[in-house]
Amino acid sequence: MDRMNLKIGVIKGDGIGPEIVTEAMKVLDKAAEKYGHTVEYTKLLMGGASIDVHGIPLTDETVAAAKACDAVLMGSIGGDAKTSPWYKLEPSKRPEAGLLRIRKELNLFANLRPAVLYDELKGACPLKEEITEGGFDMMIMRELTGGLYFGERKTVEENGVMTAYDSLTYNENEIRRIAKRGFDIAAKRRKKVTSVDKANVLDSSRLWRKVVEEVAGEYPGVTLEHMLVDNCAMQLVKDPKQFDVILTENMFGDILSDEASMVTGSIGMLASASLNETKFGLYEPSGGSAPDIAGKGIANPIATILSAAMMLRFSFDLDREADAIETAVAKVLKEGYRTIDIMSEGKRQVGTEEMGGLIAKNI
Ligand code: NAD
Repeated sequence: MDRMNLKIGVIKGDGIGPEIVTEAMKVLDKAAEKYGHTVEYTKLLMGGASIDVHGIPLTDETVAAAKACDAVLMGSIGGDAKTSPWYKLEPSKRPEAGLLRIRKELNLFANLRPAVLYDELKGACPLKEEITEGGFDMMIMRELTGGLYFGERKTVEENGVMTAYDSLTYNENEIRRIAKRGFDIAAKRRKKVTSVDKANVLDSSRLWRKVVEEVAGEYPGVTLEHMLVDNCAMQLVKDPKQFDVILTENMFGDILSDEASMVTGSIGMLASASLNETKFGLYEPSGGSAPDIAGKGIANPIATILSAAMMLRFSFDLDREADAIETAVAKVLKEGYRTIDIMSEGKRQVGTEEMGGLIAKNI
């Protein structure tokens, strides 16, 4: 592999964001150094950190600067909704509005969330051992820029009764592009796609199912099955091993990916990637800004570090470097090091910085 210059935008964000991103950068720098690449970071402000400086959660300049990078690494944004002044602003000016806008601006329509049960962390999994025996490894692919969260909405008074409307819309092109991404990824894994919908009730789901079936025709090596979302919610706790790639629309994916993350044990371990049609991606931990533990130096940086590994894999095609990071994470866990969220008896508790340092050292 040629030596590369990686142009990475960095949104440290709010709460624990700066703490965990700093550790991911440490690990990225080490991997780059080892394999002869250079990294060029561009600092980007979003969320509360941007509100404090610019009064809005995302400026046009930041969007342009993000677009000029090859990929963006992000911590998390937002604060405590009860106490933070950011939540006294109108909804369109709050931290989360920045996140919704950047996803739309960068056309990040595919959200990938791996849910992997590490052998070393089996104890943290709330499911019975007979269900998790041998671990599990699934990838949830959620449509991110359409559906209910982006549809028209309004609240009106009708005949003296307050009534709220939200609309769920998908066109066939939106479904096709995410389905293709899902099949591409399944083709490199265990070659199975479970497409999740509510086709017994919703028109949008019936179209979803039809288009996914068409796309499946182009991937004869990949098996497709359909599952209703309510059944999928049950199957995730009953038999998580059956899943390879779960392909689903925005709201179902929002809920199912949180459920899948819970069965792996800790939110601090869960990476994520949001991709568009090019190699560009936004990589971030699945968790939020954890204001309850911010500034204490105890947050788990592994989800962000694994997100950085996904960035190397999906945006830069640096599989060897991504493998090196993932192997280093597994090794440090095997050696018994734990942050507080994944701590168990007989293990050695470390803080955010020490965990990042240990992983970097093992690359
Ligand atoms: P959260 O994920 O921040 O926290 C939930 C629980 O998980 C907390 O107890 C927290 O301490 C713990 N936790 C999360 N990440 C951890 C880590 N790396 N290590 C150890 N423990 C960790 O969810 P929340 O409390 O509902 O939300 C807090 C803020 O984050 C809100 O403002 C919310 O809007 C925002 N949020 C942002 C994103 C994002 O940036 N993509 C995602 C979800 C929530």
